[in-house]
Amino acid sequence: MSEGSPCIRCGKTRIVAKTWQEEVNGAKVTVTQTVCPDPECQKIVESELKKKMEKIANIQKESQERRSRIRRGRKQAS
Ligand SMILES: [Zn+2]
Repeated sequence: MSEGSPCIRCGKTRIVAKTWQEEVNGAKVTVTQTVCPDPECQKIVESELKKKMEKIANIQKESQERRSRIRRGRKQAS
């Protein structure tokens, strides 16, 4: 999130790839995207991050489905 943070994989200081302005709740904030200076490492980090996000999304989806199943089950029981 901040500039100069080390890469989670190789520990090299990450470099700023791009910055842009975003409006959050009416306030302009500068968003900084940092990448690993090693393009190959950055690719691996990104694919690992994607896998992790997909895993989290799957878990959330499953727990939502479980919750809706429980709700349906209760309705049928009463
Ligand atoms: Zn790296």
